[in-house]
Amino acid sequence: MKITDIRFGMLRVPLKTPFKTALRTVEQVEDVVVMVHTDTGQVGYGSAPATAVITGDTHGSIVDAVRHYISPRLIGQDIANLNRITHLVQGAMEKNSSAKAAVEIAVHDLWGQLYGAPLYKLLGGGDPVITTDITISVDYIDKMVADSIAAVERGFESLKIKVGKDIGVDIERTKAIHAAVEGRALLRLDANQGWSAKQAVYALQTLEDAGVKLELVEQPVKAHDLEGLRYVTERVHTPVMADESVFGPMEVIELIRMRAADIVNIKLMKTGGISNAVRIADICGMHGIDCMIGCMLESSIGVGAAVHLAVAKSDVITKVDLDGPSLCQFDPVDGGVLFNESEITVTDRPGLGIKEIRGLSPIAGEKAA
Ligand code: MG
Repeated sequence: MKITDIRFGMLRVPLKTPFKTALRTVEQVEDVVVMVHTDTGQVGYGSAPATAVITGDTHGSIVDAVRHYISPRLIGQDIANLNRITHLVQGAMEKNSSAKAAVEIAVHDLWGQLYGAPLYKLLGGGDPVITTDITISVDYIDKMVADSIAAVERGFESLKIKVGKDIGVDIERTKAIHAAVEGRALLRLDANQGWSAKQAVYALQTLEDAGVKLELVEQPVKAHDLEGLRYVTERVHTPVMADESVFGPMEVIELIRMRAADIVNIKLMKTGGISNAVRIADICGMHGIDCMIGCMLESSIGVGAAVHLAVAKSDVITKVDLDGPSLCQFDPVDGGVLFNESEITVTDRPGLGIKEIRGLSPIAGEKAA
């Protein structure tokens, strides 16, 4: 099975409600879909959203990176040589982690198709059912409390609460949500870089003293402030998780060396795909550090790939934040991963198991897919 062509499409799916963090507000999912064609007629699917304020990738940069830097290296490569292909993808250029991820996801889809097995089985197997949390967008306190109660009533047992706007209000937000759902849901706090190190320590100690038990706090300080992250980790009881601070394995090694955080959030769009995500899980496993698997606001193509990884690495990836598809009004992908509110199930279809993607539109300079 040799790669013959790489084509693109755009997939747009409206969200149920706008997604608001300390960094941005998003109204709809917009993914670049990458389709890797082969000489057997089989097609592998991958995808990547634009996350300019996180990875620096835009739709234009993703297409350009794949079209002009990654694709020329892959034409003619045999899918059976997966490690050679991922090496070619990673070495094609610096950064551009989302473009690399989209291609790696598609190639892994084909790798599963080649051997007639779902991806998670080839990555080591596991129990093909996982449970995700759901994001509560940052908003007025009453709105966040109402959204939290509604999520618990929909069956979610973990809530990822977005904060990081105003330290005083953030403390009140968290207390109010805790009071409303105490005993019914675990609370994960994501500050999305919105606090200083001292503010984070103040907020978390205040919450701890008030009896608000958090499962973790995510990325309290700026992405590049590893010293600040360590400052927080050393001073609070609440486990601290790094998200925007760590992209690839090298950053994870540095984070562990510095003891800057307790948990690592793996996202395929940061790692550049599955090969480095596996490395991170293995590095963390060796050091006894738990991982979360996360996603961007993206469709169930890329999130589906993350699900396969989470199933196969569930010893290390103990926390799942893959709510992208459940935040959408509908799932345009008829595939092997079924998203039903908090429960995510993987079928035994080969690769990612994608049968059809509805509503794919052409991108500039491409013929319709
Ligand atoms: Mg985060």
